[in-house]
Amino acid sequence: MTLRGDIMWLKRKRKLFILSIDGLPFSFLQQAFAKGLMPEFKSLCKEGSLVRISSTIPTISSVAWATFMTGVNPAKHNIYGFVDMDDEMNLFIPNAAYLKAKTIWERLSDLGRKVIVINVPVTYPPKPVNGVLVSGFLGTDLNKSTYPLEVAYFLQDKGYIIDPDPRKAKTDKDGFLEDIFKALEGRRMAALHFLEEDNWDFFMLHVMETDRINHFYWEAKDDPQNEYHQRFWEFYRKVDDLIGELCGQVKEFMILSDHGFCSLKWEVDLNEYLKREGLLKFNGNKINPNWEAYSLIPGRVFLNEERKEKEKEKEKEIISKLFELNCNGKSVIERVWRREELYLGPYLERSAHLIATAHKGYELKGKINSGKLFDRSHISGMHTYEDALVYIKGHLLETEDAKLIDVTPTVFRLLGLPIPGEFEGRSLI
Ligand SMILES: [Zn+2]
Repeated sequence: MTLRGDIMWLKRKRKLFILSIDGLPFSFLQQAFAKGLMPEFKSLCKEGSLVRISSTIPTISSVAWATFMTGVNPAKHNIYGFVDMDDEMNLFIPNAAYLKAKTIWERLSDLGRKVIVINVPVTYPPKPVNGVLVSGFLGTDLNKSTYPLEVAYFLQDKGYIIDPDPRKAKTDKDGFLEDIFKALEGRRMAALHFLEEDNWDFFMLHVMETDRINHFYWEAKDDPQNEYHQRFWEFYRKVDDLIGELCGQVKEFMILSDHGFCSLKWEVDLNEYLKREGLLKFNGNKINPNWEAYSLIPGRVFLNEERKEKEKEKEKEIISKLFELNCNGKSVIERVWRREELYLGPYLERSAHLIATAHKGYELKGKINSGKLFDRSHISGMHTYEDALVYIKGHLLETEDAKLIDVTPTVFRLLGLPIPGEFEGRSLI
């Protein structure tokens, strides 16, 4: 592009459609392409760039999407994990009410741009936008999950569901898989409906079902003998069809995922480990008030600050204990971060003191009095940090050390808007 062309491109009011596909790994796509699966997505690669990006730490959907939607790190947006502990040591799930930074759609609404946001995690409870917002993951009742409210009536009428109930995966694996297909069909219907109205500048449709199928049916992926093998790939064919169908209707198109996936070998309960190391006790299903350290998923270790005088010593001791943890002679923990190494901002104090990440295959758990250090469950896939992706039609992207947090300024660049100074990433264009 010439400089003049570049300026013209920046000045024009632009629209952008983002299809976010939860937990779709870059490496998985490469395999699928090589096998001739997902042909729609593959053919898109001829007219745009597909780049591998890294996620957030911890690699949890709510943290990753909160980071993407605000463009800042957890110490500024305040979402550190799927669960948190309050001052009375009760667990709670931080939702959009805890989000402390402005989202992309709030910023665009302020600028008078029309937005449509469907099913993005951590958007429940819904906040008003200049357009439509349908909450995703963490919302349960559709009637409380849309802005404006009447959108809920329409969606309900069409059989739209927010999220299949993952508890069903334990008791009724066939039924849960069918729910996943149904949920995807609901997303498609909703997207096509709002696309037809053509009254938007920014459109984001989130598919959560990929994360679900990857968690619960990952072992079926490469095993033709597995009873879910065929259905697993049928599902991805549907996702690919959706990509083709949506991309055919919009000019500026982005596909985005928040983390990768790999096989889960062992669930490792860090609280059980801390208990065995004498750092944590339980009273039934409560943590004993004399705790020295406890963990919340995944790998977030909190130290008791009331024992401040020996805090640094304790921290060192716990870090070395974490590295000693091994499973059948293999070390489990890959890295332990102090919170200051990862995060910067006014809500840093809410973070765990230490954040441990594990080698591939080990899922770090933080159970209450489980009695089991290593366990296996009906879950066969787990998140990976370095294998998320972004695809943008019609643009060449910078690939070096690209991260999810860099996609937020990229969105503003694509929309031809100045990049807000608060954003921590860099535009990939
Ligand atoms: Zn995710």
